[in-house]
Amino acid sequence: MRKIDTSKEPCSECGGRLERKHIAQEFEREGVKVKLSGIAALVCTDCGEIYFQPGGADKVAAAANSLFNLAVVEKQHKRSLNAQIC
Ligand SMILES: [Zn+2]
Repeated sequence: MRKIDTSKEPCSECGGRLERKHIAQEFEREGVKVKLSGIAALVCTDCGEIYFQPGGADKVAAAANSLFNLAVVEKQHKRSLNAQIC
């Protein structure tokens, strides 16, 4: 997971083309698993490296943290919690 400045840049890992996609990411913390899906990101068509817009990775991490907090409050430890951006 890396950050880049513009969507025009090629992949910094392999120089491949980046494609705008909606991805899903899973996060696990202290045995609680949450999943965010429908996140807009740029994905390298060659190596699969994922890039977010500037600041995007932080927001995704913040959203995951909120889900973890919700999971604890709602005692959903034993279940998976998904969030979808529609
Ligand atoms: Zn690449």
